[in-house]
Amino acid sequence: MTNRAEAVVNLSAIKANVATLKAKAGVDLMAVVKADAYGHGLVPVAKAALDGGATWLGVALLEEAITLRAAGITAPILAWLVPPGSDFQSAVDNNIDIAVASIKALDEVSAVKCSKRPRVHLEVDTGMTRGGFLDEWPKIDALHLHGVEIVGIFSHFARADEPGQPQNLSQLNRFKKMVASLESFGYPHLIRHLSNSAATLVDEASSFDMVRTGIAMYGLSPDVKTLGTSKGLGLIPAMTLRAKLHLVKKVPAGSPVGYGATAVTESATKLGLVAMGYADGIPRVAQSAGVSFLGEKAPIIGRVSMDQFVVDLGADSTAQSGDWVTVFGSGADGEYTSDDWGAASGSINYEIVTRIGPRVPRIYEL
Ligand SMILES: *Cc1c(COP(=O)(O)O)cnc(C)c1O
Repeated sequence: MTNRAEAVVNLSAIKANVATLKAKAGVDLMAVVKADAYGHGLVPVAKAALDGGATWLGVALLEEAITLRAAGITAPILAWLVPPGSDFQSAVDNNIDIAVASIKALDEVSAVKCSKRPRVHLEVDTGMTRGGFLDEWPKIDALHLHGVEIVGIFSHFARADEPGQPQNLSQLNRFKKMVASLESFGYPHLIRHLSNSAATLVDEASSFDMVRTGIAMYGLSPDVKTLGTSKGLGLIPAMTLRAKLHLVKKVPAGSPVGYGATAVTESATKLGLVAMGYADGIPRVAQSAGVSFLGEKAPIIGRVSMDQFVVDLGADSTAQSGDWVTVFGSGADGEYTSDDWGAASGSINYEIVTRIGPRVPRIYEL
C-alpha cells in the first residue's frame, strides 16, 4: 500500500541535535519524548536520542515510560504526570522514576511494596504556578521522604524563551533555595534539573546537573521571534510532512472554494486538492500557510476540511494529480515550515508537529 500522506522523520537529525544541545549544556541531557516524541514517534526517537548522547528519557505519562521499557530501553526514564491513584507498582516494577509534586502522591509511592525503594524526583514550583510543590513544600520532612529514594529535584521555566525576562532569574533563585532546603535534610547528591530547550540554548546558569530538551531536539526553535530560527541555532528540523495531490484541476476566475465559500479565485488558476485535513492535524483555522511543489509555494485557499484542503498552484503549475507536495519541512528548499503553520493558525510549532494524527504514517530515515 502506498501512502497518501507521510511524516518523514530524519533520525540522524535527532542525533545531531542531541549532540549539539549536549555540547552546549555541558551536562547530562534528558531527551523529552512525551506525546509520541512530539509526534515524531516515541521509540525510534528515544533510541536515536540515546545514540546521540542523551543519558535520560523524559515523558509525561507512565504508559509512555512503560512503552519505552517494553521496547527494551534500559536508560533511566522519568515520568512527570503520574497523578495519585496511578499504578505506581508498575512504575517501580519497570524501574521508572516518578516525579512527585504532592504529599498525597509521595505517600502513595512510598506505600508500594518492593525490594528496593521507589525512585522519586521532587518537582517544585519556582514561579510557573503549574506543576510542583508550593504550599506543601514547607510541610515535607525526613519522615515523608524515608519511604522513597530521592534521586532528583526539578522545576520548569514559564518564560525561558524570553531571555532577560526577570521571571527567569527569580525562578532560578527560588530553585536554588528549594534545592538547599532539601539538601539540608541530608540529600547531597541529588540530580538538579531546571532547563528546557530555550534555557539550554540561552541560559547556561540554569543547566545544573542535567537539561531536559524537547522541541530543540526535534530541530525546532522554541520561539523564532526571540531566539531565532532553527538554522541560526544550529539545529536541523527532523520532520518533513508530505502529502499527495489527490486531484489537480483548472478553474476559472470567480470560483468559490470549499465549505462556506470563504475564498473565491481571483483569476483562472490550477487548484490542487491535498490529501490531508484537520483529522490529520492540519489546523482548520490555518489561513496563510500552504504547501510547496518543486520549491514553489502554493497557498491554502478556502477552509481546511476533515481529510483534505485546497491549494492554489497557480495557472502555470506543472503539478499533476498524484504528485507529492511538501506541507512543511526545514524551509531549505523553499517549503513552508512548522513555524509558518504555527503562525498561520495562531499557535506554535510544538502544537503543529505534536498533533499530526495517527492516520499519518511516520517514515524513518537514518
Ligand atoms: C515538555 C517539557 C520539557 C521540554 O520542553 P521543551 O520546551 O520542548 O524543551 C521539559 N520539562 C518538562 C517538565 C516538560 O513538561
